[in-house]
Amino acid sequence: MNSEYLLKLRAELPSNVKLLAVSKTKPNEDILAAYNLGQRAFGENKPQELRQKHDELPTDIEWHFIGHLQTNKVKYIAPFVSLIHSIDSLEVLQVINKEAAKNNRVINCLLQFHIATELSKFGLTEDEAYAILKSEEFAQLQNVNIVGVMGIGSFTDNKQQTEQEFAHLQSIFNNLKRDFFSTKDDFCELSMGMSGDYQLAIAKGSTIVRIGSSIFGERDYSKK
Ligand SMILES: *Cc1c(COP(=O)(O)O)cnc(C)c1O
Repeated sequence: MNSEYLLKLRAELPSNVKLLAVSKTKPNEDILAAYNLGQRAFGENKPQELRQKHDELPTDIEWHFIGHLQTNKVKYIAPFVSLIHSIDSLEVLQVINKEAAKNNRVINCLLQFHIATELSKFGLTEDEAYAILKSEEFAQLQNVNIVGVMGIGSFTDNKQQTEQEFAHLQSIFNNLKRDFFSTKDDFCELSMGMSGDYQLAIAKGSTIVRIGSSIFGERDYSKK
């Protein structure tokens, strides 16, 4: 864990931008080291790994889920997760609603949009999101709360392309705000920007930057 970088980053981010420290694949010691420097929001992309870290680490950590979420794994995180960034279907939203109700909670969620050129990335199109938000099925969900949008930029060095993708997500956010959430103050989050592109994301209105490798170092998947 790079303490110096974490402190510098926290000092440099505008006060309206939240830092989500992406700790996937990293051990508890690394998370605790960041915690001891005041970091409280951490992001993970595997439900069971998130559950285990939640159970082992301080209770005042705010855990975010940022990966593709399979419906049969919602149960692992529903009791405690503070924000699910990766809603990419009505079906997953319905399952989250059911699990949230079992836990007497309302779970905050972001709609994930596919803004990158890579086909491998998950996420909705704007039309798909409109179809979900207009549906009767969505209107019945009492235990999920949509608070904004999320997107992952293309893996590229082309700054202009990344800027265009973030501007696209910002315009989707503005359209949804206008058409569905104009009276809902807590629809206010734009989760975009990672280690390589968070400054561009902030320039396009990001309110949550998700930063992993520049805080914790490169991830070594071979050890898992
Ligand atoms: C891994 C991951 C990040 C962090 O990426 P870095 O490049 O390590 O900062 C951010 N968002 C999502 C959805 C991720 O899966």
